[in-house]
Amino acid sequence: MTDGPASATATATDETIAHNLAAIRARIAEACARAKRDPAGVTLVAVSKTHGAAAVQAALAAGQAVFGENRVQEAQQKFPGLREAHPALRLHLIGALQTNKARDAVRVADVIESLDRPKLAAALAEAMAKEGRRPALLVQVNTGEEAQKAGVARAEADAFLRHCRDGLGLPVEGLMCIPPVDQDPRPHFAGLAALAARHGLRTLSMGMSGDFEAAIAEGATHVRVGTAIFGSRPAPA
Ligand SMILES: *Cc1c(COP(=O)(O)O)cnc(C)c1O
Repeated sequence: MTDGPASATATATDETIAHNLAAIRARIAEACARAKRDPAGVTLVAVSKTHGAAAVQAALAAGQAVFGENRVQEAQQKFPGLREAHPALRLHLIGALQTNKARDAVRVADVIESLDRPKLAAALAEAMAKEGRRPALLVQVNTGEEAQKAGVARAEADAFLRHCRDGLGLPVEGLMCIPPVDQDPRPHFAGLAALAARHGLRTLSMGMSGDFEAAIAEGATHVRVGTAIFGSRPAPA
């Protein structure tokens, strides 16, 4: 994260964050009604990356307890203080994770959504043993087969899941994906849901600000919404 001019980030005001959260919750409820699903089966992960602890606090005050961050270091800086005052707070790490950050990730996260390769799986297994802490894991699948994107390839997903669960005994609870920006996300969401069903996995993290309703229609249990709650972010450096 770079320190651009203040105008590069447009973190919403506290009032707007509360208003946005209510609006997103209403849209989740409507999407659930259309899909004949119980809204209790969809968890809103408020993605607070690049926004400060004050924005997280505003969301907490508005009843939001589950947050998503991309970077371990940013999460470590922002959350420990907040956790003490808010024991219900849950933190999801949703960004690409380096193996040398595995131990910090295991310490800070309740859920790690970006497990995508054997080296990281081994590092997380070792970190969990050392820390005596077992955050839930989601395997990220590169459903669009994009070269630049994190995630296990679809063709390797079955074997990788077996390796993580049976080989390493990792607490894998579900799958996550980020569809290509220029495509209809629905087939990607449907494919991820089918893969999860084949493996008896119940957690499906899919859908962001622009497509979470489509994700709910395809069975998302977790939607990761940032911009529509907290406002725009500076372009990644
Ligand atoms: C940033 C991010 C989001 C949130 O995206 P918005 O479009 O701002 O809602 C969701 N998932 C992942 C993995 C992200 O990195």
